[in-house]
Amino acid sequence: MKLSESFFLTRRENPNTEFTEASKLLVKSGLVLRNDNGIYSYLPMAIKVLNNIQKIIREELTKIHSEEVILPTLIRDKYDYESTFDEVFHVIDRNNNSMKLVHTSFEVFTDLVRQKVNSYKDLHFTLYQINNKYRDEKRLEYGLVRKREFLECEGYSFDSDEGGLDVSYDKMFLTFKNIFSRLSLSPMVVRTNDNDAIFSEEFQVISPNGDNKVVKCSNCGYTSNIEDASSKVVISRKEVVNKQRQLVKTDGYKTIKELSKFFNVFESNIIKSVIIKVDDIYKLALLRGNAELNINKLMKIYNTQNIEIPSVNDLEKLGIAVDYIGPVNCAMEIIADNEVKTMNNFICGSNKKNYYYKNVNIGRDFRISRYEDIKLFNENSLCPLCKSKCNILSGIEIGQINKLGNKPSKYYGISYTDEINQKGYAEIGSYYIGVDRCLNAIVENNHDEKGIIWPINIAPYKVAIVVSNMNHDKMCQEAEKLHKKLNSNGIETLYDDRKDSIGVKLNDMDLIGIPIRVTIGNQIDENMAEVKLRNKSEGKTLKIDKIYDYIDELIKEYNNK
Ligand SMILES: [Zn+2]
Repeated sequence: MKLSESFFLTRRENPNTEFTEASKLLVKSGLVLRNDNGIYSYLPMAIKVLNNIQKIIREELTKIHSEEVILPTLIRDKYDYESTFDEVFHVIDRNNNSMKLVHTSFEVFTDLVRQKVNSYKDLHFTLYQINNKYRDEKRLEYGLVRKREFLECEGYSFDSDEGGLDVSYDKMFLTFKNIFSRLSLSPMVVRTNDNDAIFSEEFQVISPNGDNKVVKCSNCGYTSNIEDASSKVVISRKEVVNKQRQLVKTDGYKTIKELSKFFNVFESNIIKSVIIKVDDIYKLALLRGNAELNINKLMKIYNTQNIEIPSVNDLEKLGIAVDYIGPVNCAMEIIADNEVKTMNNFICGSNKKNYYYKNVNIGRDFRISRYEDIKLFNENSLCPLCKSKCNILSGIEIGQINKLGNKPSKYYGISYTDEINQKGYAEIGSYYIGVDRCLNAIVENNHDEKGIIWPINIAPYKVAIVVSNMNHDKMCQEAEKLHKKLNSNGIETLYDDRKDSIGVKLNDMDLIGIPIRVTIGNQIDENMAEVKLRNKSEGKTLKIDKIYDYIDELIKEYNNK
């Protein structure tokens, strides 16, 4: 491709609409155009990258005999297996039918599979599609990582028994590993608790711009999504004397930080009291002052999705002294984090404006209905397996695999008759790769201050030829010749034949990240030109007729790695 004939659009300035490094670079380099919050267009060079990513996914899935389909993304809004998901785009058609833009095509897959499965002999098989999905995202600040219309590879395995599901799952796990390795990504595998699954693992690429938080133990290797990480509570056996409880006027100080200064105690010796509404019933949750409430854990404990933190307004209407809430004389059921068990003579709200209690003790001053692990894992939390310190890292989730079991088959009626004529239900595994997220993660992991550095097998073009002076006949002739030879031998090459200055051209090629660059300049009078790799600081000057072989060798070397 000649650049003068291509829709090429780079920007000099960093876009101020993007907040992650990868989004900034992808927009600046003209691979991606932002249309709206969480809505982006892919331009020609990005399509080449996406095609390369999808090619790798398809090749690896074909190796395990997974077959591709394309299913609709606009469907009737009639299913409710995942009724809790509140980020669905709903659409009304001209006949007033409720439709939706799917965030997963699971329902449509089950419709399809029901057509085939009657006998145990109809199982096993695996299907997948690579298609756009839709999600009414709450958090849009992560640019391309959290798009509202996104490209996803979504696959399902169907087996007649649990053993079969285990085999399918393990195969897919290895396939995902191969795909990510070919994409130059080395994600951390993180256990997670998906509500609809028996067993789930996520593939998280560690990156400072990740939208997920993951926990990794520095000692035993325990990993978990922060939402699901539990932590060990160390209970000291020290005898403590319960001091006299006192009501103290706090002069308007009410935040944990302010109270810690006011009372001259650690934040961990103050109780954080949070009113929650569980299935419309108010309850009081207690945490150490330096901990945060994890609503996901509460949802599992109470087995409901209907949990909310009431607004200040709602609480004031109930006559509650909002910043002074506490457990003493509280009529609500009290649930406390396990860590609270270890606290004595602590500070807590008095339910009276401007006053806090000091030297409060559990049992003597109030009772707790239940202790549970309800806090978000934090930097003070200890590994649940070995009690060591853990690191909290940011990650981009690029894939997830789940054993769903046969519960969804019972719901959707995917049943079969076995060898002895008994009814059974298909065991399902579900597998997702975020294609946009992979593109984003590759750029997050492969860039420098000048721009993107594509791995050779993902790059939109493997080679860029830059001519320093487009009025120089010999330079242009040699560039044309090399461009033709590389392309006709399957090495996709971009020829920057614009009449711009050499500085502009070199900057642009660095920005879009083509892995191999050939610069044809004044040395062409001695039949020489420079070859430079994007990830190396120095180039190499070679005879112009040796350049093709040199590049061919470089690519072969890369492919054999
Ligand atoms: Zn550990």
